[in-house]
Amino acid sequence: MNTKKIIDENQFHIKKKFGQNFLTDKQILEKIVSAAEINDSIGVIEIGPGLGVLTEKLLEKAKHVLAYEIDSELIPILEKNLSNYSNLTLINKDILLADVKSDINRYLCDCDKVYVVANLPYYITTPILLGLLQKVHIDKYVVMMQLEVADRLCGKVSTKDYNSLSITIQYQASVRKLFKVPRTVFKPAPNVDSAVIEIKAYDEIKHKPRNPELFFDVVRNSFAQRRKTLINNLMNRFGPEKEKITKILNKMGIKETARSEELTVDQFVDLADNILTEFMDSELVDLYDKDANPLGLTIHRNALDKPNAYIKVTSCLIKYNNLYYIQQRSPYKITSPNLYELPGGGLDSGEGEVEGLIREVKEETELDIKNIKLLGRTLGKYIIRCVYFADAVHNNVVLHEAINYKWVTKEELKDLDLFTKHPELLEELDD
Ligand code: SAM
Repeated sequence: MNTKKIIDENQFHIKKKFGQNFLTDKQILEKIVSAAEINDSIGVIEIGPGLGVLTEKLLEKAKHVLAYEIDSELIPILEKNLSNYSNLTLINKDILLADVKSDINRYLCDCDKVYVVANLPYYITTPILLGLLQKVHIDKYVVMMQLEVADRLCGKVSTKDYNSLSITIQYQASVRKLFKVPRTVFKPAPNVDSAVIEIKAYDEIKHKPRNPELFFDVVRNSFAQRRKTLINNLMNRFGPEKEKITKILNKMGIKETARSEELTVDQFVDLADNILTEFMDSELVDLYDKDANPLGLTIHRNALDKPNAYIKVTSCLIKYNNLYYIQQRSPYKITSPNLYELPGGGLDSGEGEVEGLIREVKEETELDIKNIKLLGRTLGKYIIRCVYFADAVHNNVVLHEAINYKWVTKEELKDLDLFTKHPELLEELDD
Protein backbone atom coordinates (compact mmCIF):
# COMPACT_ATOMS: atom_id res chain seq x y z
CA MET A 1 0.00 0.00 0.00
CA ASN A 2 1.16 3.47 -0.80
CA THR A 3 0.10 6.31 1.51
CA LYS A 4 0.30 9.12 -1.04
CA LYS A 5 -1.56 7.07 -3.63
CA ILE A 6 -4.43 6.25 -1.23
CA ILE A 7 -4.79 9.92 -0.29
CA ASP A 8 -4.92 11.00 -3.92
CA GLU A 9 -7.21 8.21 -5.14
CA ASN A 10 -9.73 8.86 -2.38
CA GLN A 11 -9.32 12.65 -2.44
CA PHE A 12 -8.93 12.40 1.29
CA HIS A 13 -8.59 15.61 3.28
CA ILE A 14 -6.10 15.19 6.10
CA LYS A 15 -7.50 16.32 9.44
CA LYS A 16 -5.02 18.05 11.69
CA LYS A 17 -7.48 17.98 14.60
CA PHE A 18 -7.21 14.17 14.70
CA GLY A 19 -3.42 14.21 14.69
CA GLN A 20 -3.30 12.67 11.22
CA ASN A 21 0.32 12.21 10.19
CA PHE A 22 0.43 9.12 8.02
CA LEU A 23 3.51 6.94 7.72
CA THR A 24 5.03 6.75 4.25
CA ASP A 25 8.18 4.71 4.87
CA LYS A 26 7.99 0.94 4.39
CA GLN A 27 11.21 0.31 6.31
CA ILE A 28 9.88 2.04 9.43
CA LEU A 29 6.67 0.02 9.18
CA GLU A 30 8.70 -3.19 9.02
CA LYS A 31 10.82 -2.06 11.95
CA ILE A 32 7.76 -1.41 14.13
CA VAL A 33 6.16 -4.74 13.29
CA SER A 34 9.35 -6.72 13.83
CA ALA A 35 10.02 -4.93 17.18
CA ALA A 36 6.55 -6.00 18.33
CA GLU A 37 7.41 -9.69 17.76
CA ILE A 38 3.91 -10.64 16.67
CA ASN A 39 2.90 -14.18 15.74
CA ASP A 40 -0.34 -15.91 14.84
CA SER A 41 -1.33 -16.45 18.47
CA ILE A 42 -1.28 -12.72 19.28
CA GLY A 43 -4.21 -10.32 19.27
CA VAL A 44 -3.29 -6.74 18.36
CA ILE A 45 -5.07 -3.51 19.16
CA GLU A 46 -4.30 -0.64 16.83
CA ILE A 47 -5.30 2.89 17.76
CA GLY A 48 -5.82 5.08 14.72
CA PRO A 49 -5.27 2.81 11.70
CA GLY A 50 -5.52 5.86 9.44
CA LEU A 51 -5.15 4.69 5.84
CA GLY A 52 -4.26 1.17 6.96
CA VAL A 53 -0.59 0.87 6.03
CA LEU A 54 0.47 -0.38 9.47
CA THR A 55 -2.78 -2.31 9.88
CA GLU A 56 -2.02 -4.40 6.82
CA LYS A 57 1.40 -5.43 8.21
CA LEU A 58 -0.23 -6.33 11.52
CA LEU A 59 -2.96 -8.36 9.80
CA GLU A 60 -0.32 -10.41 7.98
CA LYS A 61 1.26 -11.51 11.27
CA ALA A 62 -1.34 -11.44 14.05
CA LYS A 63 -4.20 -13.76 14.87
CA HIS A 64 -6.64 -10.86 15.02
CA VAL A 65 -6.46 -7.06 14.84
CA LEU A 66 -8.89 -4.81 16.65
CA ALA A 67 -8.59 -1.26 15.31
CA TYR A 68 -10.22 1.92 16.64
CA GLU A 69 -10.50 4.85 14.24
CA ILE A 70 -12.29 8.08 15.19
CA ASP A 71 -12.52 9.49 11.66
CA SER A 72 -15.59 8.02 9.95
CA GLU A 73 -14.34 9.20 6.56
CA LEU A 74 -11.50 6.68 6.86
CA ILE A 75 -13.74 3.66 7.51
CA PRO A 76 -14.84 2.96 3.88
CA ILE A 77 -11.25 3.49 2.70
CA LEU A 78 -9.97 0.97 5.27
CA GLU A 79 -12.73 -1.51 4.51
CA LYS A 80 -11.96 -1.37 0.80
CA ASN A 81 -8.17 -1.57 1.15
CA LEU A 82 -8.20 -4.34 3.74
CA SER A 83 -11.07 -6.38 2.33
CA ASN A 84 -8.76 -9.38 1.77
CA TYR A 85 -8.31 -9.92 5.48
CA SER A 86 -10.82 -11.78 7.61
CA ASN A 87 -8.97 -11.20 10.89
CA LEU A 88 -9.82 -7.49 11.25
CA THR A 89 -12.41 -5.84 13.50
CA LEU A 90 -12.71 -2.16 12.73
CA ILE A 91 -14.46 0.07 15.26
CA ASN A 92 -15.36 3.63 14.36
CA LYS A 93 -14.97 5.15 17.80
CA ASP A 94 -12.91 7.52 19.92
CA ILE A 95 -10.48 5.25 21.79
CA LEU A 96 -10.94 7.33 24.93
CA LEU A 97 -14.65 6.47 24.97
CA ALA A 98 -14.36 2.83 23.94
CA ASP A 99 -14.98 -0.05 26.33
CA VAL A 100 -11.71 -1.77 25.43
CA LYS A 101 -12.05 -4.44 28.08
CA SER A 102 -15.32 -5.76 26.74
CA ASP A 103 -14.06 -5.45 23.12
CA ILE A 104 -11.03 -7.60 24.03
CA ASN A 105 -13.32 -10.19 25.62
CA ARG A 106 -15.45 -10.20 22.52
CA TYR A 107 -12.92 -10.05 19.68
CA LEU A 108 -9.58 -11.18 21.09
CA CYS A 109 -10.67 -13.81 23.61
CA ASP A 110 -9.00 -16.69 21.75
CA CYS A 111 -5.63 -14.94 21.46
CA ASP A 112 -2.79 -16.00 23.81
CA LYS A 113 -1.65 -12.44 24.42
CA VAL A 114 -2.84 -8.94 23.57
CA TYR A 115 -0.46 -6.23 22.32
CA VAL A 116 -1.07 -2.62 21.43
CA VAL A 117 0.84 -1.62 18.29
CA ALA A 118 0.16 1.84 16.94
CA ASN A 119 1.33 5.12 15.54
CA LEU A 120 -0.61 7.09 18.15
CA PRO A 121 -2.46 10.35 17.60
CA TYR A 122 0.07 12.60 19.37
CA TYR A 123 -2.37 15.03 20.89
CA ILE A 124 -3.75 12.34 23.20
CA THR A 125 -0.79 9.99 23.71
CA THR A 126 -0.74 10.32 27.50
CA PRO A 127 -4.47 9.87 28.22
CA ILE A 128 -4.58 6.87 25.86
CA LEU A 129 -1.67 5.11 27.57
CA LEU A 130 -2.56 5.97 31.16
CA GLY A 131 -6.21 5.08 30.55
CA LEU A 132 -5.40 1.69 29.02
CA LEU A 133 -2.82 0.84 31.70
CA GLN A 134 -5.39 1.57 34.35
CA LYS A 135 -8.34 -0.19 32.77
CA VAL A 136 -7.14 -3.30 30.94
CA HIS A 137 -4.38 -5.84 30.96
CA ILE A 138 -2.27 -5.50 27.81
CA ASP A 139 0.84 -7.68 27.65
CA LYS A 140 2.96 -5.27 25.65
CA TYR A 141 2.78 -1.90 23.91
CA VAL A 142 4.93 -0.98 20.94
CA VAL A 143 3.87 2.55 20.15
CA MET A 144 5.10 5.56 18.24
CA MET A 145 4.77 9.01 19.71
CA GLN A 146 6.39 12.43 19.78
CA LEU A 147 10.08 12.06 20.71
CA GLU A 148 9.80 14.46 23.64
CA VAL A 149 6.97 12.46 25.23
CA ALA A 150 8.87 9.20 24.66
CA ASP A 151 11.88 10.69 26.44
CA ARG A 152 9.73 11.69 29.41
CA LEU A 153 8.08 8.29 29.66
CA CYS A 154 11.53 6.64 29.67
CA GLY A 155 13.17 9.40 31.79
CA LYS A 156 15.52 8.16 34.50
CA VAL A 157 15.84 9.69 37.95
CA SER A 158 17.96 12.86 38.21
CA THR A 159 17.81 13.61 34.48
CA LYS A 160 16.04 16.51 32.81
CA ASP A 161 13.46 14.19 31.23
CA TYR A 162 12.36 12.69 34.56
CA ASN A 163 9.02 14.09 35.66
CA SER A 164 5.57 13.12 36.92
CA LEU A 165 4.78 11.23 33.71
CA SER A 166 7.95 9.10 34.01
CA ILE A 167 7.01 8.13 37.55
CA THR A 168 3.32 7.55 36.86
CA ILE A 169 4.17 5.09 34.09
CA GLN A 170 7.32 3.51 35.52
CA TYR A 171 5.71 2.51 38.81
CA GLN A 172 3.43 0.17 36.88
CA ALA A 173 5.44 -0.80 33.80
CA SER A 174 8.93 -1.17 32.38
CA VAL A 175 9.54 1.28 29.56
CA ARG A 176 12.31 1.48 26.97
CA LYS A 177 12.96 3.50 23.87
CA LEU A 178 13.42 1.32 20.79
CA PHE A 179 14.32 3.80 18.03
CA LYS A 180 13.92 7.34 16.79
CA VAL A 181 11.89 8.21 13.70
CA PRO A 182 12.58 11.38 11.70
CA ARG A 183 9.71 13.74 10.90
CA THR A 184 10.37 13.32 7.15
CA VAL A 185 8.72 9.88 6.91
CA PHE A 186 5.18 11.20 7.47
CA LYS A 187 2.60 12.87 5.29
CA PRO A 188 2.14 15.62 6.28
CA ALA A 189 5.47 15.95 8.12
CA PRO A 190 4.87 17.00 11.74
CA ASN A 191 7.13 19.67 13.20
CA VAL A 192 8.64 17.25 15.74
CA ASP A 193 10.57 13.99 15.53
CA SER A 194 9.12 10.75 16.84
CA ALA A 195 10.21 7.61 18.64
CA VAL A 196 8.92 4.08 19.10
CA ILE A 197 8.89 2.79 22.65
CA GLU A 198 8.05 -0.52 24.30
CA ILE A 199 5.97 -0.66 27.47
CA LYS A 200 5.47 -3.85 29.45
CA ALA A 201 3.05 -3.61 32.34
CA TYR A 202 4.18 -5.50 35.44
CA ASP A 203 2.02 -8.55 36.19
CA GLU A 204 2.02 -7.35 39.73
CA ILE A 205 3.18 -3.90 40.78
CA LYS A 206 6.27 -4.52 42.94
CA HIS A 207 6.01 -1.49 45.15
CA LYS A 208 2.37 -0.52 45.34
CA PRO A 209 1.15 2.68 47.00
CA ARG A 210 -1.50 2.18 49.67
CA ASN A 211 -3.67 4.77 48.00
CA PRO A 212 -2.96 5.10 44.24
CA GLU A 213 -5.06 8.28 43.92
CA LEU A 214 -2.97 10.00 46.57
CA PHE A 215 0.23 8.68 44.94
CA PHE A 216 -0.71 10.28 41.59
CA ASP A 217 -1.66 13.44 43.44
CA VAL A 218 1.69 13.61 45.29
CA VAL A 219 3.66 12.90 42.11
CA ARG A 220 1.77 15.47 40.04
CA ASN A 221 2.07 18.17 42.65
CA SER A 222 5.73 17.47 43.43
CA PHE A 223 6.54 18.58 39.89
CA ALA A 224 4.02 21.43 39.75
CA GLN A 225 6.78 24.02 39.93
CA ARG A 226 10.02 22.53 38.75
CA ARG A 227 12.19 25.36 40.01
CA LYS A 228 10.96 24.85 43.57
CA THR A 229 12.25 22.27 46.02
CA LEU A 230 10.22 19.16 46.78
CA ILE A 231 9.27 20.48 50.20
CA ASN A 232 7.91 23.74 48.76
CA ASN A 233 5.85 21.92 46.15
CA LEU A 234 4.45 19.62 48.85
CA MET A 235 3.62 22.58 51.07
CA ASN A 236 1.69 24.18 48.22
CA ARG A 237 -0.41 21.08 48.00
CA PHE A 238 -0.78 19.97 51.60
CA GLY A 239 -0.98 23.31 53.33
CA PRO A 240 1.84 25.04 55.13
CA GLU A 241 2.46 22.12 57.47
CA LYS A 242 6.21 22.25 57.14
CA GLU A 243 6.82 20.29 60.33
CA LYS A 244 4.93 17.22 59.17
CA ILE A 245 6.55 17.31 55.76
CA THR A 246 10.03 17.80 57.25
CA LYS A 247 9.39 14.89 59.60
CA ILE A 248 8.51 12.63 56.67
CA LEU A 249 11.57 13.68 54.64
CA ASN A 250 13.87 13.18 57.64
CA LYS A 251 12.42 9.76 58.25
CA MET A 252 13.04 8.86 54.62
CA GLY A 253 16.60 10.25 54.70
CA ILE A 254 15.80 12.93 52.10
CA LYS A 255 17.47 16.33 52.40
CA GLU A 256 15.19 19.32 52.91
CA THR A 257 16.83 20.96 49.90
CA ALA A 258 16.06 17.99 47.65
CA ARG A 259 14.34 18.55 44.32
CA SER A 260 11.57 16.28 43.12
CA GLU A 261 13.63 14.84 40.26
CA GLU A 262 16.11 13.37 42.79
CA LEU A 263 13.56 10.89 44.18
CA THR A 264 13.26 7.43 42.67
CA VAL A 265 9.89 5.92 41.78
CA ASP A 266 10.06 3.74 44.94
CA GLN A 267 10.76 6.81 47.05
CA PHE A 268 7.66 8.52 45.65
CA VAL A 269 5.59 5.49 46.63
CA ASP A 270 7.04 5.68 50.16
CA LEU A 271 6.49 9.44 50.24
CA ALA A 272 2.80 9.05 49.35
CA ASP A 273 2.39 6.30 51.96
CA ASN A 274 4.02 8.46 54.63
CA ILE A 275 1.82 11.42 53.70
CA LEU A 276 -1.18 9.14 54.02
CA THR A 277 -0.10 8.14 57.52
CA GLU A 278 0.89 11.61 58.66
CA PHE A 279 -2.00 13.60 57.19
CA MET A 280 -4.84 11.31 56.36
CA ASP A 281 -5.06 8.24 58.56
CA SER A 282 -5.64 10.42 61.58
CA GLU A 283 -8.64 11.85 59.75
CA LEU A 284 -10.48 8.53 59.84
CA VAL A 285 -13.26 8.51 62.39
CA ASP A 286 -15.69 5.88 63.67
CA LEU A 287 -19.45 6.34 63.41
CA TYR A 288 -21.84 6.05 66.37
CA ASP A 289 -25.58 6.06 66.95
CA LYS A 290 -27.16 8.87 68.94
CA ASP A 291 -26.53 7.07 72.20
CA ALA A 292 -22.80 6.91 71.44
CA ASN A 293 -22.84 3.19 70.61
CA PRO A 294 -20.40 2.31 67.79
CA LEU A 295 -21.98 1.41 64.43
CA GLY A 296 -18.86 -0.46 63.28
CA LEU A 297 -18.32 1.97 60.35
CA THR A 298 -15.29 4.15 59.68
CA ILE A 299 -15.18 7.09 57.30
CA HIS A 300 -13.04 10.06 56.42
CA ARG A 301 -14.05 12.95 58.62
CA ASN A 302 -14.98 15.19 55.68
CA ALA A 303 -17.26 12.57 54.18
CA LEU A 304 -19.87 12.57 56.91
CA ASP A 305 -23.22 12.77 55.17
CA LYS A 306 -25.07 9.89 56.77
CA PRO A 307 -28.24 10.84 58.61
CA ASN A 308 -28.49 9.27 62.06
CA ALA A 309 -24.77 8.56 62.20
CA TYR A 310 -22.52 10.61 64.44
CA ILE A 311 -18.85 11.10 65.11
CA LYS A 312 -17.45 11.59 68.60
CA VAL A 313 -15.84 14.87 69.43
CA THR A 314 -14.31 15.41 72.84
CA SER A 315 -13.95 18.78 74.48
CA CYS A 316 -12.17 19.70 77.61
CA LEU A 317 -12.37 22.45 80.18
CA ILE A 318 -9.07 22.58 81.94
CA LYS A 319 -8.76 23.83 85.46
CA TYR A 320 -5.36 25.32 86.18
CA ASN A 321 -4.59 27.60 89.15
CA ASN A 322 -8.31 27.93 89.77
CA LEU A 323 -8.93 29.24 86.30
CA TYR A 324 -10.67 27.50 83.45
CA TYR A 325 -8.65 27.16 80.38
CA ILE A 326 -10.14 27.24 76.90
CA GLN A 327 -8.72 27.61 73.45
CA GLN A 328 -9.20 30.61 71.27
CA ARG A 329 -9.56 29.03 67.90
CA SER A 330 -9.06 30.42 64.49
CA PRO A 331 -12.41 31.57 63.10
CA TYR A 332 -11.76 29.42 60.06
CA LYS A 333 -11.65 26.30 62.13
CA ILE A 334 -15.04 26.50 63.73
CA THR A 335 -18.45 26.19 62.32
CA SER A 336 -20.25 28.00 65.12
CA PRO A 337 -20.30 31.79 64.96
CA ASN A 338 -18.78 31.82 68.40
CA LEU A 339 -15.04 32.38 68.38
CA TYR A 340 -14.38 30.25 71.40
CA GLU A 341 -14.35 26.51 71.61
CA LEU A 342 -13.08 24.03 74.10
CA PRO A 343 -9.80 22.28 73.42
CA GLY A 344 -10.34 18.84 72.00
CA GLY A 345 -11.38 17.44 68.67
CA GLY A 346 -12.57 14.40 66.76
CA LEU A 347 -11.55 10.94 67.82
CA ASP A 348 -9.44 8.90 65.43
CA SER A 349 -10.75 5.54 64.40
CA GLY A 350 -10.51 3.01 67.22
CA GLU A 351 -9.45 5.61 69.75
CA GLY A 352 -11.08 5.73 73.18
CA GLU A 353 -12.78 8.95 74.35
CA VAL A 354 -10.32 9.80 77.10
CA GLU A 355 -7.29 8.60 75.16
CA GLY A 356 -8.33 10.82 72.22
CA LEU A 357 -9.01 13.75 74.45
CA ILE A 358 -5.56 13.59 76.05
CA ARG A 359 -3.96 13.42 72.60
CA GLU A 360 -5.98 16.33 71.23
CA VAL A 361 -5.35 18.58 74.21
CA LYS A 362 -1.65 17.78 74.14
CA GLU A 363 -1.50 18.55 70.39
CA GLU A 364 -3.40 21.80 70.76
CA THR A 365 -2.19 23.18 74.06
CA GLU A 366 0.97 21.29 74.99
CA LEU A 367 -0.68 20.50 78.30
CA ASP A 368 -0.73 17.10 79.96
CA ILE A 369 -4.11 16.54 81.49
CA LYS A 370 -5.20 14.38 84.39
CA ASN A 371 -8.13 13.80 86.79
CA ILE A 372 -10.65 13.71 84.02
CA LYS A 373 -14.35 13.87 84.80
CA LEU A 374 -17.12 13.56 82.19
CA LEU A 375 -19.48 16.51 82.46
CA GLY A 376 -21.99 15.40 79.90
CA ARG A 377 -22.81 14.69 76.27
CA THR A 378 -24.50 16.91 73.76
CA LEU A 379 -25.75 16.04 70.32
CA GLY A 380 -25.12 18.30 67.34
CA LYS A 381 -25.78 17.59 63.70
CA TYR A 382 -23.73 14.41 63.13
CA ILE A 383 -21.60 15.16 66.18
CA ILE A 384 -21.68 13.76 69.69
CA ARG A 385 -19.75 16.15 71.87
CA CYS A 386 -18.39 14.68 75.09
CA VAL A 387 -17.47 17.41 77.53
CA TYR A 388 -14.84 16.71 80.13
CA PHE A 389 -13.39 18.62 82.97
CA ALA A 390 -9.74 18.03 83.85
CA ASP A 391 -6.74 19.31 85.76
CA ALA A 392 -3.82 20.37 83.62
CA VAL A 393 -0.11 20.03 84.14
CA HIS A 394 1.71 23.05 82.92
CA ASN A 395 4.96 22.23 81.18
CA ASN A 396 6.84 25.49 81.47
CA VAL A 397 5.15 27.19 78.56
CA VAL A 398 3.59 30.61 78.92
CA LEU A 399 0.52 29.48 77.13
CA HIS A 400 -1.42 32.63 76.51
CA GLU A 401 1.59 34.26 74.91
CA ALA A 402 3.12 31.31 73.19
CA ILE A 403 0.16 29.88 71.42
CA ASN A 404 -2.60 32.39 71.67
CA TYR A 405 -4.77 30.82 74.30
CA LYS A 406 -7.08 32.51 76.69
CA TRP A 407 -7.68 31.95 80.34
CA VAL A 408 -11.25 32.33 81.54
CA THR A 409 -13.29 32.17 84.70
CA LYS A 410 -16.63 30.45 85.06
CA GLU A 411 -18.28 33.84 84.79
CA GLU A 412 -16.72 34.30 81.36
CA LEU A 413 -17.69 30.83 80.28
CA LYS A 414 -21.39 31.25 80.77
CA ASP A 415 -21.85 32.98 77.39
CA LEU A 416 -20.14 30.21 75.55
CA ASP A 417 -22.42 28.66 72.96
CA LEU A 418 -22.19 25.27 74.62
CA PHE A 419 -23.27 26.59 78.02
CA THR A 420 -26.11 28.74 76.80
CA LYS A 421 -27.54 25.66 75.13
CA HIS A 422 -26.70 23.34 78.01
CA PRO A 423 -26.73 25.37 81.23
CA GLU A 424 -26.66 22.10 83.20
CA LEU A 425 -23.02 21.68 82.16
CA LEU A 426 -22.10 25.06 83.60
CA GLU A 427 -23.66 24.13 86.91
CA GLU A 428 -21.08 21.42 87.28
CA LEU A 429 -18.11 23.78 87.09
CA ASP A 430 -16.38 25.23 90.11
CA ASP A 431 -16.44 28.99 90.50
N1 SAM B 1 -1.70 4.36 11.72
C1 SAM B 1 -1.69 5.39 10.72
C2 SAM B 1 -0.31 5.56 10.18
O1 SAM B 1 0.64 5.16 10.87
O2 SAM B 1 -0.17 6.09 9.08
C3 SAM B 1 -2.24 6.73 11.22
C4 SAM B 1 -1.55 7.31 12.41
S1 SAM B 1 -2.02 8.96 12.77
C5 SAM B 1 -0.62 9.52 13.64
C6 SAM B 1 -3.21 8.84 14.06
C7 SAM B 1 -4.54 8.20 13.68
O3 SAM B 1 -5.36 8.16 14.86
C8 SAM B 1 -5.35 8.93 12.65
O4 SAM B 1 -5.87 8.03 11.75
C9 SAM B 1 -6.49 9.58 13.45
O5 SAM B 1 -7.66 9.79 12.69
C10 SAM B 1 -6.68 8.58 14.54
N2 SAM B 1 -7.25 9.14 15.78
C11 SAM B 1 -7.13 10.38 16.28
N3 SAM B 1 -7.78 10.52 17.45
C12 SAM B 1 -8.33 9.30 17.71
C13 SAM B 1 -9.11 8.79 18.77
N4 SAM B 1 -9.46 9.59 19.80
N5 SAM B 1 -9.53 7.52 18.72
C14 SAM B 1 -9.20 6.73 17.68
N6 SAM B 1 -8.44 7.15 16.65
C15 SAM B 1 -8.01 8.42 16.65
